Amino acid sequence: MSKSIIVVGEVAADGVAKATLECISEAKRAGADTVEAILFGKAAKVAAGAAGKAGATSVRYVEESTYSLAQRAATVEGAIKESSPGLVLMSANTYGKELAGVLAARLKAGFASECLEVRFGDDGQPRALRPMYSGKVLARVKLNGPTSFATLRQNTVPVTDDGADVAVSELALAGSANGVVLTGADAGATGGEVDLSEASVVVAGGRGLKEPENFKLIEDLAAPLKAAIGATRMVVDAGWKDFHYQVGQTGKVVTPSLYIAVGISGAIQHLVGMQNSGCIVAINNDPGAPIFKVADYGIVADLFEATPKLAERLKN
Ligand code: FAD
Repeated sequence: MSKSIIVVGEVAADGVAKATLECISEAKRAGADTVEAILFGKAAKVAAGAAGKAGATSVRYVEESTYSLAQRAATVEGAIKESSPGLVLMSANTYGKELAGVLAARLKAGFASECLEVRFGDDGQPRALRPMYSGKVLARVKLNGPTSFATLRQNTVPVTDDGADVAVSELALAGSANGVVLTGADAGATGGEVDLSEASVVVAGGRGLKEPENFKLIEDLAAPLKAAIGATRMVVDAGWKDFHYQVGQTGKVVTPSLYIAVGISGAIQHLVGMQNSGCIVAINNDPGAPIFKVADYGIVADLFEATPKLAERLKN
């Protein structure tokens, strides 16, 4: 059993994606002898060095002009066959969820999704800690077999930067696009706004807002703070906001320095997505709302009065 890890990740416009650096850092903490990072992206070569700082022992970059799942799968499959790593780790972001599922099925390998931690056991097999049953339990699972797969939930582990410079080489994109060619991509519902997963301040709204139009209050509070906007599943299910905005177990996990929850009850499925934020401020008119159990500052008030006042203060 090889205690080596291949981390597959992305290079964004501003460098190696934070989600990828989280995976590399976690791979190092897992006790891997070697951590190879395979980075996909347009300017992957330029950014690849940062992966070494996070703990990669080698880096291969794949310059891809457009995203192709089939080609990524063929490329990573080739790399796995070359080095037989004990674990292939990716972020549980859109790319990782898709690619890990395809490869684990194709190679008939074990797969633990949405992990909060990965570690090699004394027997050399990887173990993972992952939420189950809507986050009600944290399961410790052992991955058997020569090569296993895991995806790591975003924003749940720290990024380390005490690694060294490493050798960077190119890995050729393999396979073909299988007839599917990505001809364009919209920035999505959050286009032009601060990215929720990476934001240092998040203002989120819940059903307490009562009407979709009242989300304007959240936008007005977010603007002076340059904050990203979040929402509960209630809000998303009601069609007030797109799924991209959802924070929680089935949405995004965020760890901003400041999280302001407005009209949000604090159901466990929402809390697992934001409770590790640096400072939590909650506005709710029910003093018994569970959100106050995790809040550093609680404002028991009618949000329709308190939120505009707070926004006005911040604007000035
Ligand atoms: P509510 O629970 O209805 O809370 C509204 C709050 O607004 C209340 O606390 C109320 O006191 C307050 N309020 C009302 N009027 C005012 C006012 N005028 N001023 C101030 N406060 C006011 N939820 C998520 O958010 N994210 C997830 O990813 C998620 N995943 C789920 C997965 C599963 C499998 C399941 C079963 C559920 C999931 N949920 C998730 C749903 C979750 O259980 C809750 O139903 C949801 O988070 C509640 O949303 P809310 O706080 O907006 O609404």
